[in-house]
Amino acid sequence: MKVKMRRSGGNMVKITPATIPIIDAFERNEGCIMCSVWLKDEFQSMELVEDNEVSMDQAFRRDVADASGFCNRHMHVLYRTVFGGGIPDGLGYAMYVQDSIEKFHETIQTIYTSFNEVGKKSLNFLSKERTPQAVIESSGGKLEKMLQGTRICEICRRMLLADARRTRTLVDMVGHDEDFAEKFGKTGRLCYPHFVSAIQMVPTRRVKKKAVAAQLVAMELRCLKETGNLLADGGRASPEMAAMMIGGVEGLYCFTKKTSNPTVLAQAEGRGKR
Ligand SMILES: [Zn+2]
Ligand SMILES: [Zn+2]
Repeated sequence: MKVKMRRSGGNMVKITPATIPIIDAFERNEGCIMCSVWLKDEFQSMELVEDNEVSMDQAFRRDVADASGFCNRHMHVLYRTVFGGGIPDGLGYAMYVQDSIEKFHETIQTIYTSFNEVGKKSLNFLSKERTPQAVIESSGGKLEKMLQGTRICEICRRMLLADARRTRTLVDMVGHDEDFAEKFGKTGRLCYPHFVSAIQMVPTRRVKKKAVAAQLVAMELRCLKETGNLLADGGRASPEMAAMMIGGVEGLYCFTKKTSNPTVLAQAEGRGKR
């Protein structure tokens, strides 16, 4: 690929489709570079799944249905984006929800049928669940399985893959582009979770690993110091920025599956042991 150069604050950096979002975020200077792109990517993912061609694609719809819809976060972000006016057409949202409702309905209907059949002595011998107690006990597991689905949320999956690709690019930029590495070392920022991802990526890249790791570590030590300074005045300076630098942007890496209350299950198991 032909590589163009762009002057950036006195330094020359390599411009490719992969480096552009990172350089842009770096120049915007709004906290963690990767978080800033993550948020932008999340909005673009909402536009993508709401695109008519995507939401009409049977294979894609099946993947979403297998995941029992989107994760907790993305059900809400999609809803807010669509109905907050971010995307003019809510048709895709309605179709994904409709698919989930159908699957949930089917599962509940099966349980409902078992409840009815357990009373009929003639049919009991066909079923593994011969008592109402057995039907109730197995329904919890069936419902839980349906709630969770069999795949990761499709938006999470895409975002995590894209984040990994960007992290690789960032590590390569620090490893191969001296000008960028120097600027990044002085003013670049990564939140703590993204710093961890970057360090984990270093051994897999063809870069001078020790130099790149040292550069990343020095950068993060500076970031943590800056974050500490943000909290110096009782947290009033910029508590939001401090939260983002420690935990990453809201929703980062939280592919929160829809799941039933884990303490309910623990209580049921506890009762079983007694
Ligand atoms: Zn981050
Ligand atoms: Zn998700």
